[in-house]
Amino acid sequence: MSDVSTTCPYCGVGCGLLARSDGSITGDGAHPSNRGRLCSKGAALAATLDDATRLTMPAIDGRAASWDAALDLIAARFRETIARHGPDSVAFYVSGQCLTEDYYVANKLMKGFIGSGNIDTNSRLCMASAVAGHVRAFGEDLVPGVYEDWDEADLVVLVGSNAAWCHPVLHQRLLAARAAHGTKIVVIDPRRTATADAADLHLPLASGTDVALFNGLLAYLNDAGRIDHRWVERHAAELDAALAAARLPSAQIDDIAAECGIDPEALETFYDLFARTERVLTVYSQGVNQSSAGTDKVSAIINCHLATGRIGRPGMGPFSVTGQPNAMGGREVGGLANQLAAHMGFDDAQARAAVAAFWQAERLAERPGLKAVEMFDAIHDGRIKAVWIVATNPAVTLPRAGRVRAALKACPFVVVSDCWPTDTTTYAYVLLPAAAWGEKDGTVTSSERRISRQRPFRRAPGEARPDWWQFAEVGRRMGWPAAFAWDRPAAVFREHAALSGHRNNGRRIFDIGALATLDDAAYDALQPVRWPMPAGAVSEGGRLFATGGFPTADGRARLVPTPCRGQSGRGGHALLLNTGRIRDQWHTMTRTGLAPALLSHTSAPVLAIHPGDAAAVGLADGALARVTSDHGDMLLQTELRHTQRRGEVFAPMHWTEQFASAGCVGQLVGADLDPLSGQPALKATPVSLLSEPVHFHGLLLRRDAGPLPDTCHWVRVPVPEGQLYRLSGLAAMPAGDDLMRFAASLLGAADDAERLEAIDPRRGVLRVAVVRDGALEACLFLVRDSAALPPEAALIPMLGSPVPDRARAQLLAGRMYDRIAAEGPRVCACLGVSRDAVRHGIVTHRLRSVHEIGVLLGAGTSCGSCIPELEEILRDVRMPVA
Ligand code: SF4
Repeated sequence: MSDVSTTCPYCGVGCGLLARSDGSITGDGAHPSNRGRLCSKGAALAATLDDATRLTMPAIDGRAASWDAALDLIAARFRETIARHGPDSVAFYVSGQCLTEDYYVANKLMKGFIGSGNIDTNSRLCMASAVAGHVRAFGEDLVPGVYEDWDEADLVVLVGSNAAWCHPVLHQRLLAARAAHGTKIVVIDPRRTATADAADLHLPLASGTDVALFNGLLAYLNDAGRIDHRWVERHAAELDAALAAARLPSAQIDDIAAECGIDPEALETFYDLFARTERVLTVYSQGVNQSSAGTDKVSAIINCHLATGRIGRPGMGPFSVTGQPNAMGGREVGGLANQLAAHMGFDDAQARAAVAAFWQAERLAERPGLKAVEMFDAIHDGRIKAVWIVATNPAVTLPRAGRVRAALKACPFVVVSDCWPTDTTTYAYVLLPAAAWGEKDGTVTSSERRISRQRPFRRAPGEARPDWWQFAEVGRRMGWPAAFAWDRPAAVFREHAALSGHRNNGRRIFDIGALATLDDAAYDALQPVRWPMPAGAVSEGGRLFATGGFPTADGRARLVPTPCRGQSGRGGHALLLNTGRIRDQWHTMTRTGLAPALLSHTSAPVLAIHPGDAAAVGLADGALARVTSDHGDMLLQTELRHTQRRGEVFAPMHWTEQFASAGCVGQLVGADLDPLSGQPALKATPVSLLSEPVHFHGLLLRRDAGPLPDTCHWVRVPVPEGQLYRLSGLAAMPAGDDLMRFAASLLGAADDAERLEAIDPRRGVLRVAVVRDGALEACLFLVRDSAALPPEAALIPMLGSPVPDRARAQLLAGRMYDRIAAEGPRVCACLGVSRDAVRHGIVTHRLRSVHEIGVLLGAGTSCGSCIPELEEILRDVRMPVA
């Protein structure tokens, strides 16, 4: 097999990859989005191609079934439900992981033929506020800029974006631009993240005060004479209204700084820098979007660019970066419940007629459907009676996850398509095995409107099939064979491209009509291309709006007044919980959790908290905290960090019941929604903390994953030969025979294995090793004092390794581990360099720069995602002790 060029399945940067004939995955030097660079997640993709845990057969009610039986059943149950309760009694909940072709078929089936708007996507949780902000400013959901703007800007403002961890290749590109020509970087984020560490200025604003900050900027720009009245007069409207709203309740820097909880001098420095820099790019992401005022935050940012005419020219403009690999593609086809198709809306009768005619749709949906949170509310209260969930895990990621689980349990008919078992697949009556990245064939669109091919380079295991095929099969079986007759993704793509140009005539900027005539070979060979590409276009699309041309009735953009709406109350809770991503994990870890290297940087969900807040509730570093909101409670280990704002805590969104007994942070989050976009406020949940007593500590190493007794809080960490579990006893350690039964339930090893045991009841210590065929099969250490646990780094390589007779006593006594130094967490996941190795190298070799660390240890020389952390270690080690 020759090398296959494809696209990364993780974030919206859309990096090009080469799947090599030797099984490795590398960056594609020819792809314009990344020019060969990858982050740690992309670099570890080859380690995730293990089929051992994949879903490979359809199942009905837990029993293996044929595709025919499963698809016939889905078609019949959806038909029956629609006949009895109407089209709005069914729903699809899909994903930014879906390819554009998957999305297109699902949207056509729901909106064109079932006749409901009830298809929404987990992109609702990611960038719905950006979409709503774009539409009300520009008239259409459009990102005006291109990635070259990251190179060409003189000032880049990152708002609510930890790009160093969440969009690392773009962040590396920005740092390279700074090295080349001194780009200034400002980060606006409540947390001091890796991105903030690399910035020239960090404004740690209080959560939810972005509108006040950008309103203040608009007023400052006006007062400083920086409004481009000529440009505004010709290309924008509503400046006066936006300015009037921006001045309320005050445009004084001191007042705004007090509202935002930041230093007035730092705020003025930012305002001044923005005012006098023409080439300014404002990048925003989930920290802006995931808010009950998300759309207003987006508008407040865009207002500043429209007022100064800084849009669509090199190095300037508002720039939304999407979390998911194909959030943009989903928006193109109309995968959000409030969109119709191809950037056409429900409120336009001509558009509805055009789509109905193009699809020859029997009953086109006439109004928007339910957005994600509303959709699961409707399932909960019985209005929706059949749902098909595709490539997403709402039992973990939606707010009030406990209520979502209850809804799925009560729903009369739940279909789930996925590649791996998840918390959500446990609720499936019909479970469909989906083809995964590397097996699927189609397209994705990156944050800069660039369409790239995802190409297959391996066979799907068992009977796994692509999502577009599943939807098309059900469409045919529901009675519409002609409308769902495609035999390959290229045919779906051609129809999607043709619809974008259908009766368009320049009314909509999303137009890829030029790609509607690609034959199969040309589709196969399609190179990354940025839209718009209307029929007849000979070159790809570029920046938008430098000279106006907004797709509105009068061709002008709209500034939108964004009066501050004030903050919601905390309901008696002392802290605000912010949720988000960590550097090396993706979504609910179904793929990244397969690569042990990606768990070497952060291996467990922890609650980051300022030491002052921790002390107030008696929590020490590493203590177990019970986190309670109005919607649920969970246990998280605390990690004290001075980088947290006082009054705010942070927990990662990735962990599920597959990886921890209580990792699902979605169960704490409420359903506070942005009123326009319907995007939930995932970053500001009022919570309280209590210290949870831990009666004993444990380490369990075994081959298989599986549930553990609920008397333990546990976290599972995949390791090269099996699984490591960290245990915290929530009740007293059992004694006598109960202890041995408890140990046996944890170890779960086969009867033919040899068991070595050492018990010291007085000190509260149990050590058990299970040896089979001379190799360590499992081991368990339970202790009252966590300091008595062996170092994990020494223990992990022993799983599956030979245990010589002479070493058995040492193994149980723990002496073997004492001689092996634990290295601490890995900083560089690509080259496996630990934090301690970096510190040691800096001290002993007097290293002075990240470059010198790279030369000595290799750290930071592959994807570069760890460079901000290497800089932090350098600062730390060099910092004189007071
Ligand atoms: Fe994939 Fe990383 Fe590139 Fe995002 S930045 S597309 S996760 S390689």
